[in-house]
Amino acid sequence: MVSQTVDLLKNELPLEQESVVLPEDVVNGLVLVDIINGFCSVGAGNLAPREPNMQITGMINESARLARLFCDKKLPVLAFLDSHQPNKPEEPYPPHCIAGTDESKLVPALQWIENEPNVTIRRKDCFDGFLGSIEDDGSNVFVDWVKNNHIKAILVVGICTDICVLDFVCSTISARNRGFLAPLEDVIVYSRGCATFDVPLHVARNTKGALSHPQELMHHVGLYMAKERGAIIANEVSLLTPKKP
Ligand SMILES: [Zn+2]
Repeated sequence: MVSQTVDLLKNELPLEQESVVLPEDVVNGLVLVDIINGFCSVGAGNLAPREPNMQITGMINESARLARLFCDKKLPVLAFLDSHQPNKPEEPYPPHCIAGTDESKLVPALQWIENEPNVTIRRKDCFDGFLGSIEDDGSNVFVDWVKNNHIKAILVVGICTDICVLDFVCSTISARNRGFLAPLEDVIVYSRGCATFDVPLHVARNTKGALSHPQELMHHVGLYMAKERGAIIANEVSLLTPKKP
C-alpha cells in the first residue's frame, strides 16, 4: 500500500536524473551536509536512526567515496556540521547535535577528513548551511570558500535531502542567480549521496509532536524541489575526463 502510494506520486513527479562527469580543467567543490552521528549513527540521539537504514548507509558510503576522490585530487571540500547550543532548541525538532557532543561529530567513515588540508569544516546552528556560514562580521564562509577556490561547480551530498540539503541548495542557487557566487555555475545534487530519515505516518500518529515523514517519498520530493530551483540532479558522478570519441 505504502509503496504503491510512493509509486503513484513518483509518476506524478517524475524526476529525471543525469550521469554527471565533472571536467578536470575547472575547480569542482564537494559540499558535505551534516553527515554526523546525530543524524546517521544508529541510536546516537533524538534524530538518529533507531535501526540500520539502507538509504542512510548508502549515503555515507557514497559521500566517503567522493570525499576520498576529492581529497586525493586536492579539490576543495566543505563539511557542514549541525551544532547547537543547549539553550537554543531548533523547533519543531527535539534537542539534537549539541555542540561538543558525539552527535555533532562526523560519522566514523568521514572523521579522517578533519585532518585533510583541502577540507573546511563549518559548524552551523540552523538548517541552511548558506545562512549558517554567516560570521558575526557579515562575511560568509561558504561564499569565501567558493570565491577563494574559484569553484565552478559544487557537488552536494548529505542529510536530509528535503531539509538541510534542500535549504542550502535553494539559498545557494538564489545567491548565484543574484551574482554573489561568481564563478560558481553548477549546483549538482547527487541523489545516491543524499538521504533523509524515516517516520512513517503510523509512527508519527503515535508520537506526540511528530510530523509524518516517509523516507523514500520525502527523499524524492527533496530532490524534485531542488531540481525546481535549477539544481542538476545526478544519479551518477565521476571526476574522470570524458573519453574522446
Ligand atoms: Zn539542527
